[in-house]
Amino acid sequence: MGIKFVSPFQSILLQKRLCVGCTASLDKAKRLGKLSQRRELLECKCKRRYVYNKELNEYQRATLQEEQQFLRELNKKPLV
Ligand SMILES: [Zn+2]
Repeated sequence: MGIKFVSPFQSILLQKRLCVGCTASLDKAKRLGKLSQRRELLECKCKRRYVYNKELNEYQRATLQEEQQFLRELNKKPLV
């Protein structure tokens, strides 16, 4: 964790909208919530997290910062 390096192989998978861990379609990944107007946090079935950028229509790996931002937002709301 915490390594910025993304291998070319991972980039290709993300361009194809596939999870870099299990190659499942990210279009079917669970939507956890919005990070901002244009960005949504997703979680694949293998628990890897991604950010979907609506503006660019592409997926990126979620950074630790983005995950923490989301968890903070989540804590503001009562759990159902
Ligand atoms: Zn996956």
